Amino acid sequence: MRKFLMALILSSVSVPVWAAEPAPPPPFAPWLVELNSEAKSRGISDALLARALGGISPIKRVIELDRRQPEFSMTFWSYLTKSVNDKRIKKGREMLAKHKTLLAKVSKKMGVPPRFLVAFWGLETNFGSYTGVFPVVGALVTLAHDRRRSKFFRAQLLAVLELMDQGNFPVDVKGSWAGAMGNHQFIPTTYRDFAVDFDGDGKRNLWASLPDIFASAANYLGRSGWESKRTWGREVMLPKGLDLSLTGLKVRKPLADWQKLGVRKMGGGDLPKAQIDGSIVLPAGYQGPAFLVYKNFRTIMVWNRSIYYALAVGHLADRLIGAGPLKAKIPENDKALSRLDVMDIQRRLSAKGFDTGGIDGRVGPMTRDAIKSYQKSVYLPADGYPNMGLLERLRGS
Ligand code: CA
Repeated sequence: MRKFLMALILSSVSVPVWAAEPAPPPPFAPWLVELNSEAKSRGISDALLARALGGISPIKRVIELDRRQPEFSMTFWSYLTKSVNDKRIKKGREMLAKHKTLLAKVSKKMGVPPRFLVAFWGLETNFGSYTGVFPVVGALVTLAHDRRRSKFFRAQLLAVLELMDQGNFPVDVKGSWAGAMGNHQFIPTTYRDFAVDFDGDGKRNLWASLPDIFASAANYLGRSGWESKRTWGREVMLPKGLDLSLTGLKVRKPLADWQKLGVRKMGGGDLPKAQIDGSIVLPAGYQGPAFLVYKNFRTIMVWNRSIYYALAVGHLADRLIGAGPLKAKIPENDKALSRLDVMDIQRRLSAKGFDTGGIDGRVGPMTRDAIKSYQKSVYLPADGYPNMGLLERLRGS
């Protein structure tokens, strides 16, 4: 409690609350003994535990990466330009052609079109060229022992030990600093629940078997609700004066309703007649591009909860089959807000009674809602999007 009060006091002199380290981890040796006994109680063999955990110790670099706080948030445009660049599009098209037969076979069986499987592959590991260099057990031991998200990572660690004990992959398997593995960077529980053996050799090999790699991604998407006959969404034009409270993933309407409200394809054409629901997403605020997104967009967000990521997957998938760049133009002054700017916005909103759920420098759902409420209260377009204009307005009032 005292710590919490201190944090409150400090926050008013602009020390980031969330930069506070979690409490120090417990002594490592007894923690490891206790972990071993839990693993044993789950039926993981002594031999495997000795091989996987013998002589292990936390990896300092993993904690550094976990605590990394970029000074600037990334704008939608900078994210998209970085993740869907010409080189990646070109390589993706090559991969789509090169693995055409296999992708068609996987797609037919699992219901996810090839372009999406290749788009995820490109974004996750640049088509398998970078699957991570950290020892997965070491990384997960570090994060499970650390207190910031110990429950989540302990579950991942126990899952990976179980998978190793069952012979899925060796104990020295490599992955990301957070324990994501293979060509599509599956965390251990995703591997456990969704990886499949598609080439029939009895192993689920997400490092070297393209049939297993593509089929596992397709299985994960399929079981997360992918609709095989549909796409993800599209860039659209909004009518002037559209009520912005209708935007965001919370509002779903049939395409016919969006059509009635004046939403059109880029270029002005009518929306498709399909009987499906969509939501309007504005990743860069009301002055930026607008997207009408369908159920598959939400499935992409099961894989990764970021709206930027989901738009990048959808857009890259379209580009792989010949679509052009987005029609919306990148603004000349596409300036990212710094962490301190976001905190300043949060502090000023909170002071006015709009609850941002803390002063953490990150733009989450509560901060977006608080911005929307504030915008409404001063008759600004309520897109919930933070930018310098908003901060200046808050500073001035
Ligand atoms: Ca296999």
